[in-house]
Amino acid sequence: FIIPEFVQFTQRIDEIFWRAKANTHGQLASYIPQLTRFNPESWGLAICTVDGQRYALGDAHEPVCLQSVSKPLTYAMVLDELGPAVVHQYVGQEPSGKAFNTIGLDPMNRPHNPMVNAGAVVICSLLKQGMNMADKFDYNQQRLKLLAGNEFVSFNNSIFLSERQTADRNFAIGYYLKEKQCFPKGTNLHELLDFYFQLCSVEMTCDSGAVVAATLANGGICPITGVKVLEPYCIRDTLSLMLSCGMYDYSGQFAFKVGLPGKSGVSGGIMLVVPNVMGIFMWSPPLDHYGNSCRGIQFCEDLVKTFNFHNYDNL
Ligand code: GLN
Repeated sequence: FIIPEFVQFTQRIDEIFWRAKANTHGQLASYIPQLTRFNPESWGLAICTVDGQRYALGDAHEPVCLQSVSKPLTYAMVLDELGPAVVHQYVGQEPSGKAFNTIGLDPMNRPHNPMVNAGAVVICSLLKQGMNMADKFDYNQQRLKLLAGNEFVSFNNSIFLSERQTADRNFAIGYYLKEKQCFPKGTNLHELLDFYFQLCSVEMTCDSGAVVAATLANGGICPITGVKVLEPYCIRDTLSLMLSCGMYDYSGQFAFKVGLPGKSGVSGGIMLVVPNVMGIFMWSPPLDHYGNSCRGIQFCEDLVKTFNFHNYDNL
C-alpha cells in the first residue's frame, strides 16, 4: 500500500479534521442566492489513495455543487481533445494576481489562465465545438463519471437557475471576451454562459470528488475502476496550473505553505491532489475573503505540518 499504516494515518487525519471543525470564521458566498442556503456548520472530507484506500469524515456523503472546482476538470478534457498548443492560443498559464471574476486579459488578449472565470468561459467554448448543448452536457457528465469511478455525479438545477439570474459579472466578462475575439468562430455567447453555469452546478460528494482527485494524483487512471480517463500530459498541465492558480489570489501563498495542487470553489469545496499518493476532497461553506473555504484551508495547511506532503519536503 502507498500508505501502509492507514489506520494510524486516518487517526491523525481525524485530529486535523476536528480541529478545523472548530474554526467558525468566514461567510457564505452571497452573490449566488442559492448558496446562502448552505448550513455553515457543514464540514466533510474524503480521501482516496492511488491504490484505492478510502476514508471519509463528517458530511462527506452530501451532494455539493462544484463551482470553480469544475474548472481544472474542463481544462483537462479540452487538453485531451485539442492538445496544449491549440488550447494555449486561447488562454495563458500565468496567475492573474486578481480576483477570480476580474474583467481583464493578459498582454496577448487572452484570459490569464483556465482557473479564473474568464479563462474557464473560454475553455468551455473550446469543448466539443461541433456538439449541441444537450450532447455537450452529456459528454461532460460522462467524462466526470469516468473520473469519479462511476460514483456520484449529478446536477443542481436551482443552483444553475440562481446563478444565471444573478450573473451580471459573468455576462460582462463574456461580452468583453467576445469584443476581444477570445472565442472560436461560431460561439453563441448565451449558450456558452449557460454551459459554464451548468458546469458550476454539477454536484459531487466529497466521496466521489476524492476519487476524481485520486485519478488526477494517479496520472489519469482511475484507482477504483482502473480505467485510463486522461493522458498523463493533460494531468501534468492541469496540476501545474492548479498549483500556480488554483486558489484564486491566495494561490502563491497556498503554493508556498501547502506546496500541492488544489482547486477551490465558492460552494466551499476544495480538491487537493498529493501526486502519486492520494486525492482529498473537502467541503465547508464559510469562505475567507479570497473565496476559499476557511476550514478547508486550515485543513490543508495543518496537513502538511503533520505529514511531509509538501512538494519540497524530503529534499
Ligand atoms: N459559478 C461561480 C462564478 O462564476 C464560480 C466561481 C467560483 O467558484 N469561484 O462566479
